[in-house]
Amino acid sequence: MSIIDTHCDLLYKMFLDRKVQFAEGNGDADVSYTRLVKAGVVLQWFAIYLPDNPAYYSFDHVLTCIDLFRTRIAACPQVEFIKSRQDFDKLLKDKRKLGAMLTLEGVEGLAANMGNLRTAYDLGVRSIGITWNHANWAADGVGEPRQGGFTVRGKQFINECDRLGIILDVSHLSEKAFWELCEQSSRPFIASHSNAYRICPHVRNLKDDQIRAIIEKNGRIGITFVPAFVRAEHPQIKDLLLHIEHICSLGGENCVGFGSDFDGTDLKIPGLENPAHYCQLVDELHKRYTTEQAERFLSGNWKTYLLKNLPE
Ligand SMILES: [Zn+2]
Repeated sequence: MSIIDTHCDLLYKMFLDRKVQFAEGNGDADVSYTRLVKAGVVLQWFAIYLPDNPAYYSFDHVLTCIDLFRTRIAACPQVEFIKSRQDFDKLLKDKRKLGAMLTLEGVEGLAANMGNLRTAYDLGVRSIGITWNHANWAADGVGEPRQGGFTVRGKQFINECDRLGIILDVSHLSEKAFWELCEQSSRPFIASHSNAYRICPHVRNLKDDQIRAIIEKNGRIGITFVPAFVRAEHPQIKDLLLHIEHICSLGGENCVGFGSDFDGTDLKIPGLENPAHYCQLVDELHKRYTTEQAERFLSGNWKTYLLKNLPE
């Protein structure tokens, strides 16, 4: 059973503490090479996320994170840096390596400069979450009280991402901005780590009409393990299936995947504390779904999406 996971924050921990390693399992971090391989992860996305403080909002810091990714993760001999659909296709056929994709969470560090965006693309960034919870130069996040949409610059940013072939990610984005993106972008976008609001009414989760819009565009939704987005009280692994069930009921069986958010939160669902525990979720999926369905949720849906939407 192979797994694709579209969100983790190991790079953030590496940025804060240069002692954090990827290759060897390490104390404070959830994600490690050993755990990913043990779980059967074939492709892990690594997000660049800068500390929530304007002092860090510069492209220099983005470059530092890109360098951390390239030197500490992508440089491992058993890791393949995935930048194109050809890279990904080869990874799936060879079955020997762990794929790693580089993403950006929040465009603060691009400093409204499209040159920075193009440089980030050239260095391998292939998906971008437009905001974190607050507002930035491009758009408002879910936690911004005014709940605005995109700025003029933000709309230019959408066009440039579409032109480059960068996958846009709506996790953390305000509802107004979500609908503006839906209108403006010609490409299928994703929510890399969000759940269903109907099942767990948290501001970070997607309303039914948002889920339907993603399905209609043939985008994807990565179900996330952050306890507060799964169930208000005492979430269990089996509660993740309620979110899957709900998205399927809206017609999204081909749009469901996983984006754990390991290393992005200290709170965990019991039994699902790090990637090595993916097997518990796999067991739970098998109780309810056919092997073919479970395979699609764990990696198949992301495979079809990426083979179509990564650049050539
Ligand atoms: Zn996040």
